Amino acid sequence: MSVSDKARQRVRQRASNRCEYCLSHQDYVMGTLQVDHWLPVSRGGMDDEGNLCLACELCNQHKWAKTEAIDPMSGESCPIFNPRTQSWSKHFC
Ligand SMILES: [Zn+2]
Repeated sequence: MSVSDKARQRVRQRASNRCEYCLSHQDYVMGTLQVDHWLPVSRGGMDDEGNLCLACELCNQHKWAKTEAIDPMSGESCPIFNPRTQSWSKHFC
């Protein structure tokens, strides 16, 4: 499996050239924004655009293969923000 150049272009355009996790624009991050599999391939994620998002290197490295994290307020495990299924402003309010 691999993501085609055209799919990468569409993911970049859909994200308006911003990291979909922290919203940093390409002009303000070090390196090139990367196409990330929200559900990692190693965990059964597919290359379809419904599983792809644009991420800066810091967010991509921090997220790594995780789909859940511990909420520091509640101490409970919760899903990591998924830009394909959730609203950024609602998730981070
Ligand atoms: Zn980011």
